Amino acid sequence: MSLQLYDTLSRQIKPLHPEDGRIFRFYCCGPTVYGPAHIGNFRTFINQDILRRTLEVAGLNTRHVRNLTDVDDKTIAAANREGCSLREITDRWTDRFHEDSEKLGLLPPHEEPRATDHIQAQIDMIVRLVEIGHAYATDEGSVYFRVSSYDDYGKLSRLKEREITHDHAPAGSDRMDADEYERDSVCDFALWKSHKPTDGSVSWDSPWGPGHPGWHIECSAMSRIYLGDTFDLHAGGVDLLFPHHENEIAQSEASNGKPFARHWFHNTHLMVEGQKMSKSLGNLFTVADAIERGYGPRALRYVLMSGHYRQQLNFTWASMNAATSAIKRIDKAAAHLAEASGRSIDQINSEIGHSPANGSEWNGLQKAWQALCDDLNVPAALGGFFKAIPELESKKNRDEAILAQDRMHRFLYALGLLPETMQSVTAPEEIIALANERWAAKESKDYATADRLRAKLTETGWKVLDRKDGFDLEPL
Ligand code: AMP
Ligand code: ZN
Repeated sequence: MSLQLYDTLSRQIKPLHPEDGRIFRFYCCGPTVYGPAHIGNFRTFINQDILRRTLEVAGLNTRHVRNLTDVDDKTIAAANREGCSLREITDRWTDRFHEDSEKLGLLPPHEEPRATDHIQAQIDMIVRLVEIGHAYATDEGSVYFRVSSYDDYGKLSRLKEREITHDHAPAGSDRMDADEYERDSVCDFALWKSHKPTDGSVSWDSPWGPGHPGWHIECSAMSRIYLGDTFDLHAGGVDLLFPHHENEIAQSEASNGKPFARHWFHNTHLMVEGQKMSKSLGNLFTVADAIERGYGPRALRYVLMSGHYRQQLNFTWASMNAATSAIKRIDKAAAHLAEASGRSIDQINSEIGHSPANGSEWNGLQKAWQALCDDLNVPAALGGFFKAIPELESKKNRDEAILAQDRMHRFLYALGLLPETMQSVTAPEEIIALANERWAAKESKDYATADRLRAKLTETGWKVLDRKDGFDLEPL
């Protein structure tokens, strides 16, 4: 079954295929590196990761480009606040972003260009836009894109130029400077920003004097370098739809004279405990916050992928408990199949990591896979997967188990939830003693004592699982 996905530009679900017939080339707007990425950012990056993995399991080669925004008003303000260079700040938070991404099982993009490493390409694009009449420089040395010069402006957001006024401040306009009074029209947006005293040492030379690029131009310039004028898909959170992506289209199509992205993939925002994430509410949780509370990063990934990407998802700490159980269930099923097939979990994971494409039937996982291919319906895919687990686990014949194991791991690769070998945790001596005491009470039919001791074990964080001839202890 071919993969299809909703396209924000045409407002239609469309099949995905590489235009060149070989490699599916896509660009994702990456993080602004001035602080830790929060779980909302990671909801978006995880859905992009699942899209890539699903394309790969479907047999396509991908080229995934995701930029690092390492110069804008926020990064400059952070460097000034902390009294260090822009590069020091952005390097520090880039490293942290990479660490968190790895914990969450995100595949590194094939290219991760930094805006500050591509200043000349951005200047070149701006020069071209000025030459052909789509942009103008002001007396104080800034350059603006003239929105009225580009007829298609607003085609992505369906926002007509005349609707954009100061009162009607478009979402994302906090990225525009309030003091940009030199613009010919309030709709025009900055391509180059002249140096201000608050920029400190952050400055590059340009034909219009010292300054730094506006935020939108970096994605137009870098996507062109790494993917060409036209590429298969462009992705980002829904807040970027306007003005960022609208402006990217205007800059790229006006300067290159070619269509820009063929498909637009936007991810709806994450809410936390029913509220919008914000610094003032103190709910900008990070990967570190989840780990500090004792949760594994796989459980966090599970929660962040558990809602359909086009619907709002509400994060709660309670949902992390259910996700932890779901992850355990996955690992348990994988352990069963590993025993029946004689192939270890790590062995099959590494084989699939090298060549994820599934060349044949999905057997019991057909429905789950179809859900993934149908507008990346992850919740339906997870539902189908859990429903299929008992049937998969029941394979005792070695050949059947090998086949089931292959399908299961391949499907989980697409979700970025490859199983792990369950850690056998040894309980401390006093816990084992308590559990032995309980077992003895149970054997002598003193159920009241046995129940009391079980409750005590639960209180200390241990679960007793009775077998016919003894018991197992599992941390809660
Ligand atoms: P930023 O670092 O602010 O440039 O954002 C990085 C990515 O995270 C962008 O694609 C944003 O659209 C996305 N994003 C920001 N906030 C949220 C949120 N609450 N939920 C989902 N995605 C978000
Ligand atoms: Zn961008």
